[in-house]
Amino acid sequence: MKNFSVRTKQRIEMVDVTEQVQQIVRESGVRSGVCLVFVPHTTAAITINEGADSSVRLDITETLSELVPFGASYHHLEGNSDAHIKASLIGPSVTIPVENGRLALGTWQRVFFCEFDGPRARQIFVQIVEAKS
Ligand code: ZN
Repeated sequence: MKNFSVRTKQRIEMVDVTEQVQQIVRESGVRSGVCLVFVPHTTAAITINEGADSSVRLDITETLSELVPFGASYHHLEGNSDAHIKASLIGPSVTIPVENGRLALGTWQRVFFCEFDGPRARQIFVQIVEAKS
């Protein structure tokens, strides 16, 4: 398993990590298989969505904050329950097919690390499993 770090700058933010993941796929030498991208955090997540228009990212984070507002009457004493809930809604991992040594993403798809309680230094784990030929 490989990992890399991301330093976020805002409390809530989506960071495009497609190139870092693609580089790990390239270095693995795997031509065909699956790539697991996982965050070992409880207030962050991973998703795949459009990267061409950055306003899509803004719409996602703003809508999540409308659905799960900061500072509502939650039980968790740490004060960051909105971040835990947002992280669970999006999920801690994505699995992407690898074909011809590359992530088989659609034209408009990018891999995003989702920060919900930043700014922080975060880790992203990448595990590539080769398909039997
Ligand atoms: Zn907490």
